[in-house]
Amino acid sequence: MEIKVLRDILEANELIARQNRQLFDRHGLYVVNLMASPGAGKTSLLERTLEGLGGEFRMGVITGDVATQLDAERLGRHGVPVLQISTGGECHLEARMIRRALDDFDLEGLDILFIENVGNLICPAEFVLGEDARVMILSTPEGDDKPEKYPLMFRQSRALVINKIDLLGMVDFDLDKAKERAWRIKPKLAIFPLSCRTGEGLEAWFNWLRKEVASR
Ligand code: MG
Ligand code: ZN
Repeated sequence: MEIKVLRDILEANELIARQNRQLFDRHGLYVVNLMASPGAGKTSLLERTLEGLGGEFRMGVITGDVATQLDAERLGRHGVPVLQISTGGECHLEARMIRRALDDFDLEGLDILFIENVGNLICPAEFVLGEDARVMILSTPEGDDKPEKYPLMFRQSRALVINKIDLLGMVDFDLDKAKERAWRIKPKLAIFPLSCRTGEGLEAWFNWLRKEVASR
């Protein structure tokens, strides 16, 4: 019974995600659904990306948060349109939340839309939003065993950002092991080790985005 209910919910979600997708297509928009644990650096990566690519692309952000406005405030300082979705306690975004948000969000003229999902490695993987790519961030303090613990999240992602590499050597995280474990679950997953704090590795991530947007 419970499984059937979940299946119905996911099917309804997929239908709305397809409608979102059509809307994004009409605007020629490249859409990233950014997923990670709380504190892995979703907002930091977005801030760095807005700074680094601001001269090349017009970008917007929809940020999902359980309750606060803090991320929206941080992102709003970068002079791009930012819309906050308060999920009211829900631990993931759903396609219907995005559709509702798009009523108040002007997509005209944008090249890239980032959707910052709620910090959680489980259910965001189940709910497509209409994005072109799901990108996951894993930060080094979380440990290199995450691919085996949350395989669905890794399998559903097109790219993996490994953030906080400035902490390598201080935390229990083996970069090669993490990559190998991720590739075992998702061969060919694009992996970008970087540090939002020092800026190391960001250029490879930017280049990947450039290519993604160009090949859309
Ligand atoms: Mg955040
Ligand atoms: Zn959830």
